[in-house]
Amino acid sequence: LRAYHEGMSIPEAIAAARDRIDRATSACGRTDSVHLELAVKTRTPEECREAAAALSEAGLSILLGHNRVQEARATVEAIREVPGARIHLIGPLQSNKINHALACVDAIESLDSPALASKIDARATGTLPVFVEVNVSGEATKHGCSPADVSALIDAVETSAHLQLAGFMTVGLNSPVEADVRSAYAQLRGIRDEAASRLGIEESDLALSMGMSRDLEWAISEGATIVRLGTAIFGERRA
Ligand SMILES: *Cc1c(COP(=O)(O)O)cnc(C)c1O
Repeated sequence: LRAYHEGMSIPEAIAAARDRIDRATSACGRTDSVHLELAVKTRTPEECREAAAALSEAGLSILLGHNRVQEARATVEAIREVPGARIHLIGPLQSNKINHALACVDAIESLDSPALASKIDARATGTLPVFVEVNVSGEATKHGCSPADVSALIDAVETSAHLQLAGFMTVGLNSPVEADVRSAYAQLRGIRDEAASRLGIEESDLALSMGMSRDLEWAISEGATIVRLGTAIFGERRA
């Protein structure tokens, strides 16, 4: 497991993370781009704004992921001060929080059931990008639908009025064993490839949001197009 970039400023940590991402991308011969999404749980509005501004100044896409709708609501104003900032929900969404979520996020990466899809669709206006979250590690504590339930969930998205399938998301296996972590990521890529072929679209039209601070290189080797980094940018999380 890798050391985190403690002691750096947020802009320095972003530059270091970007460097890791770029080296991992070229190491496996990829020529497409991998986006850095900041996982901002437990961070203050000021830290979120500073991080969004640092992404902007570095000329990077300004993408922040929130685990909790309450935190997104509390920080959205600060983040929106940075033009072009986009906010994704990356944690579980309860039905009673859907309206609040729709008011402050640009995409939901944690769609995990047809029932949730239809509840979101009933309240959404315009087009909302969604990612199907899949539990490829099989760990009971993880969110996401099972691989067997993915097609039904895609059908629910495809028949909805407002949801647009933007890609797939997973939280990786919590293990130091490279082969095990990578095989879970490879499974998500296989699910993405199959969905693209079934929908008659390019694989590159569907994002793969996978990989965190400890394993972004492994995720990129397996095709990640978005890596979600928290501790590599902000240091250890607050309680
Ligand atoms: C916290 C979190 C991350 C980032 O994890 P780090 O190990 O801090 O990089 C990514 N995705 C989700 C869903 C998270 O909750």
